[in-house]
Amino acid sequence: MTGSTKHEYITMIPISRPFIGAEERAAVNEVLDSGMLVQGPRVAALEALFCEKTGARHAIAVCNGTAALHTALLAHGIGPGDEVITTPFTFMASVNAILFVGATPRFVDILPCCFNLDPAQIEAVITPRTRAILPVHLYGFPSDMRAIQAIADRHGLAVIQDAAQAIGATYRGQPLGALATACYSLYATKNVHSAEGGMVTTNDDAVAERCRLLRAHGSPRRYYHDVLGYNFRLSDLHAAIAIPQMQRLDDIIARRRANAAFLTDHIRHPAIVTPDLARLCGRRGEGACTASGHVWHQYVVRVLGNRDHAVERLAQAGVGSAVFYPLPAHRQKHIIERGLGQVTLPVAEQAAREVLALPVHTALGEDELRTIAAAVNAL
Ligand SMILES: *Cc1c(COP(=O)(O)O)cnc(C)c1O
Repeated sequence: MTGSTKHEYITMIPISRPFIGAEERAAVNEVLDSGMLVQGPRVAALEALFCEKTGARHAIAVCNGTAALHTALLAHGIGPGDEVITTPFTFMASVNAILFVGATPRFVDILPCCFNLDPAQIEAVITPRTRAILPVHLYGFPSDMRAIQAIADRHGLAVIQDAAQAIGATYRGQPLGALATACYSLYATKNVHSAEGGMVTTNDDAVAERCRLLRAHGSPRRYYHDVLGYNFRLSDLHAAIAIPQMQRLDDIIARRRANAAFLTDHIRHPAIVTPDLARLCGRRGEGACTASGHVWHQYVVRVLGNRDHAVERLAQAGVGSAVFYPLPAHRQKHIIERGLGQVTLPVAEQAAREVLALPVHTALGEDELRTIAAAVNAL
């Protein structure tokens, strides 16, 4: 029995596959040989690549995506007594970062077609304390930034994007970094990774300057400390891993798009709703959704039947799957204990019950894509 379990594990198509190729290995070895392990040339090179690929004027590397959010919120002057509007349907880091700076998250429900913040519901929760909107580009699909920015402008709010899952994504043809301050994660499972890592991009010179101070103990020069800062540095070893991937970013995105298109073309099941955004958002006129450049961090279907059963059946067919995320932020224990859970967000709750991510990563070949689609169709 042990043998067959092991065999199953080995042949399972994983939900994600962190990429480490020959270039990445060589880059890490070069850093080790150089002796310059932190805040050296690789970090600077990675920052320059982020500016180039995201359309932002400044990029500030930090040790992870959570630190990027924390740094960006502080750099925008968000603190105790402030409220930040965000989505409940996200990885918890988006919400925790708001709490780290002493601010209060206010949740707004999501759109059923793309799972991102519903701009039409934002203004109802704005109060005199509201300081920022924090949209999350979930699964690599940009939120409706035109509508969100218009609301922010009307009320004098900052927009801080959680683009952790959306490196390289575009919104109406523009890269996200060109739109507003954005936070990226380079965690091992993300589309571009450095094992652990993060980045803030911004077009605001003052915000960039504050981010640079905050990531290194508030220190403009060694042993002089102007503000209370943190140790959020990224090492050159980590940066080196991400550089070759950033250089191949267009290819990474093209492969994910092709894999997603294949799955949507080949999955046919009455109880499985594929993420066909053109169809699902067609009712919204010109459709902010259809005009956006998805980078397919995750390929997520809705399961209208028994999801646990589907997960099990897929695993038996050698197909890994995962639920991002089973419990929305406003239902999490520490959020309820803070008295922030008394909101009714039915679209997010339904999504949490129905979503299931299938493998879409760049290591998939056509045989594996066929296996995935066939396993779903046989559910
Ligand atoms: C991964 C992720 C983060 C956090 O990034 P880390 O690098 O893991 O700290 C934040 N928000 C979202 C939406 C993420 O997916």
